[in-house]
Amino acid sequence: MEKKNIDWANLGFGYIQTDYRFVSNFKDGKWDEGVLTEDPNVVINECACVLQYAQTVFEGMKAYTTSEGKIVTFRPDLNAQRMAQSAARLEMPVYPEDKFVEAVLRTIKANEAYVPPYGSGATLYVRPYMFGSNSVIGVKPAEEYQFRILTTPVGPYFKGGVKPLTIRVSDFDRAAPNGTGHIKAGLNYAMSLHAIVDAHKQGYDENMYLDAATRTKVEETGGANFLFVTKDGKVVTPKSSSILPSITRRSLVQVAKEYLGLEAEEREVYLEELPDFAECGLCGTAAVISPVGKIVDHGKEICLPSGMSEMGPVTKKLYETLTGIQMGTIKAPEGWVVEV
Ligand SMILES: *Cc1c(COP(=O)(O)O)cnc(C)c1O
Repeated sequence: MEKKNIDWANLGFGYIQTDYRFVSNFKDGKWDEGVLTEDPNVVINECACVLQYAQTVFEGMKAYTTSEGKIVTFRPDLNAQRMAQSAARLEMPVYPEDKFVEAVLRTIKANEAYVPPYGSGATLYVRPYMFGSNSVIGVKPAEEYQFRILTTPVGPYFKGGVKPLTIRVSDFDRAAPNGTGHIKAGLNYAMSLHAIVDAHKQGYDENMYLDAATRTKVEETGGANFLFVTKDGKVVTPKSSSILPSITRRSLVQVAKEYLGLEAEEREVYLEELPDFAECGLCGTAAVISPVGKIVDHGKEICLPSGMSEMGPVTKKLYETLTGIQMGTIKAPEGWVVEV
């Protein structure tokens, strides 16, 4: 198979159309077989439930080439499981988890020419998503759905080197205690757009959201979970029922314990205790872990001791170990790296 003529190292994070996408329709209470199609357009009624009431959920994962030249993806079973939970919360039919993994692998395989080579730092981003597709005007769930998987090649996250982020404590809330913060729904992102545009205008990279009920505890950013390191080298991740359970964060915690012999704790993290931490990172599929150098709380600056020029030492070890596992240079736990 011949790779596409793409300047992998200089790719950004934008949509580039690839050759195939997967489509399956849910109608009369069941999913059809699903097909790979070359048509990138979706045609739905003007009154489709997704357009009127935002009934849509999604996933994000990546395919890449390992040091041995194999095309793989990372823990797709967890994406399947999370999408099932997201769908159930929005009264959408679940796309069977085994079929989800199968369809992801099939879609990657069909777009093999777009999977960046080992060492380029680039990956093929994989976006499974589902939406209510038939017309609905009275508020109720749709009866018909479409499950699709698109892929798009994306560039290395740390292009031009690692640059620790400056984030601000947001006055906006991301998720309510019994709301939808724990599922991967487009609606969580729609309401965060104003906050992120405003943060960028004010010169910040990201928003730190607090718990909506008391505004004293750290939740997450718009699209990544926090991971903190204490001054004595313990990994701490915030616990809350309104945080999206990041697969990267869960993997990093396991890496911390099993590969690095570190203590790790998932607990409530108070805004007040941030000055006590030595390192802070944002975890998600795109960056794996992106260091935070400074947190600004209404003019009060909290500067992490790891500084503004590099990753902290524990963050760096976590990053190198997990990316080593993903790339095949460090032995992976059973089932983490799945060959296409
Ligand atoms: C997708 C997402 C993450 C990161 O999850 P990963 O599984 O690690 O990619 C974190 N927070 C939010 C709100 C998300 O939507």
